[in-house]
Amino acid sequence: MNYSFEPIGVIRSPYREKFGIPRQPSLVSAARVTLELLPPYDHPDCVRGLADFSHVWIHFVFHETLARGWQPLVRPPRLGGNAKVGVFASRSTHRPNPIGLSLVELASVNTAGRVMLELAGADLLDGTPVLDIKPYIPFVESRPEARGGFVDGPPPRLSVAWSDNALRQLAELAPPPGFAELVEQVLAQDPRPAYQNDPGRVYGVMLYCYNVRFAIDGEHALVLEILRENQ
Ligand code: SAM
Repeated sequence: MNYSFEPIGVIRSPYREKFGIPRQPSLVSAARVTLELLPPYDHPDCVRGLADFSHVWIHFVFHETLARGWQPLVRPPRLGGNAKVGVFASRSTHRPNPIGLSLVELASVNTAGRVMLELAGADLLDGTPVLDIKPYIPFVESRPEARGGFVDGPPPRLSVAWSDNALRQLAELAPPPGFAELVEQVLAQDPRPAYQNDPGRVYGVMLYCYNVRFAIDGEHALVLEILRENQ
């Protein structure tokens, strides 16, 4: 049996490439994402009652990586990038059916014009196709006693500092509100691949149309410069 699904919406996100996106939702609360519903699902009736829920499950397609297929074993970054676990014991994007599931805060529901949901703390790439939205039901789905396998708590966070150059550029470029907080939360997650430790290396993460250039030494990230790019 085959099944086919069509997107009910699309994500508009500050994350313009995979590098830098947190590995799970809620780790970067400053990330504000819009979910635009597509016709015929963009009718206010489809979201009637949804605003009474604080959180929603977003079912989506890992559209950026689906062409690379899947493997039975994957190497989760939380295990250092070498140890392998089964694909179904992981949250890898490379899955037989490349479907993602993220629990996010529902900041607002806008039904004036095209129906849009404002989501906080999402781990979603710009342009992500959304298959479904479901309200989070705390008494059923909250399980504080649950075992977390190899993911037994939030990852350690880096401290983040700004160079004088980056601070000057931040003031000159006037990026969207909350941009500096977004940069700090993204870098605090340590976006580097698990096996990399090269204090001399300069990385770039795209947030909105800004290339944020940074380096990491030990537990400290330093924002070096912010470059506006044409996208
Ligand atoms: N919370 C989801 C889940 O468990 O299904 C996603 C977990 S997955 C490890 C998170 C990563 O998915 C992010 O760090 C980002 O690199 C990647 N990602 C986000 N949106 C994507 C998309 N549309 N296509 C491919 N990869 C995506």
